[in-house]
Amino acid sequence: MTDTSNRRIDVPLVDHHCHGVVEAELTDGEFRSLATESDWPAPAGTDSLESPFGLAVRRFCAPVLGLEPLAPLDEYLARRRSIGPAEANRLLLRSTGTSHYLLDTGIRDARLPGPDAMAARADARVREIVRIERVAEDFASESTAAGFAAKFPETLAAKSRDAVGLKSILAYRHGFDIPAERPSGREVLQAADAWFRTAEESGSFRVTDPVLLRFGLWSGIDLGIPMQLHTGYGDSDLQLFRADPSRLSPLFHATRSLGVDFMLLHCYPFIREAGILAQVFPHLYLDVGLVSHYLGPSAGTAIRQAMEIAPFGKILYSSDSYGLAEHYAVSAANWRTSFAALMDDWIASGWATANDADRIATRVASENAKRVYNLNP
Ligand SMILES: [Zn+2]
Repeated sequence: MTDTSNRRIDVPLVDHHCHGVVEAELTDGEFRSLATESDWPAPAGTDSLESPFGLAVRRFCAPVLGLEPLAPLDEYLARRRSIGPAEANRLLLRSTGTSHYLLDTGIRDARLPGPDAMAARADARVREIVRIERVAEDFASESTAAGFAAKFPETLAAKSRDAVGLKSILAYRHGFDIPAERPSGREVLQAADAWFRTAEESGSFRVTDPVLLRFGLWSGIDLGIPMQLHTGYGDSDLQLFRADPSRLSPLFHATRSLGVDFMLLHCYPFIREAGILAQVFPHLYLDVGLVSHYLGPSAGTAIRQAMEIAPFGKILYSSDSYGLAEHYAVSAANWRTSFAALMDDWIASGWATANDADRIATRVASENAKRVYNLNP
């Protein structure tokens, strides 16, 4: 197995899950804190960039900013500062060959651009993915418990009128060990009452109650547009074992005929579980975003695992980039390099023709996302 290939995969990408780039000047410390999913300072003697992702930045991003591949990190960060964040973002984003970004607009980080600013910087189309829990928290802060229980579904419908999909962070806020069925009106009202009482004391409407999270999820399912679910590795607040997507099998059985597709995001280290689910359930899809940059030299392993069992029409590309344009640049370059190497292996060992390789790459790079999210004009 090698990740060097003469094959080039130049097809445009649809990045179906990402969060935008910070355009402010970053100190080296801020850059390093955006280069990890950890929310805490690195202990003495360690560095988030002395890592697989750091190697990937030096390999793939240094040449985009006019340096030699594998230029030292200090040189890279100095170069980034000297050209300024706007120009660095522009160069790095445009190096990815991405035609569409599906942007999750639900993170509370004022440094992140909205869809229009992102489109201008990247010279690409940007469509919105609405985060259900963010809509719930915003609506609750201006409603009552009874009002929330009665009106949340129509509020979510209105907020997502121009979106191409929804997203739930159930995995981070609770975990996938939930009952499959829709909660009753009585359960929702009781949970909303308790939520509003707690919020009055704490001043925060952060939603973690499993009944309310299910209520949000089912309100989204009713809208019939693709539903993204973060699974596996991700934010520091998750309990990893509860983010195994196979724990949601009862929900996938319950929703199979409802006309909603579920997009399993990240999936690492449950990539094989996600692949099995995507093969079995007609309405399930997977990607290996996030690890496409954080695994650096080992990202090919994740990309290969994603290709092990699910039909090729069920696998999507995403970067799950957040904050750094380097995430976008590394994910795209890593995907193109690793996918080309995989296709080379399949051709060399008699498993596929060159035409097969081109067709499969195009499906995963863009066609599947365009079909599922209905992105074609
Ligand atoms: Zn994400």
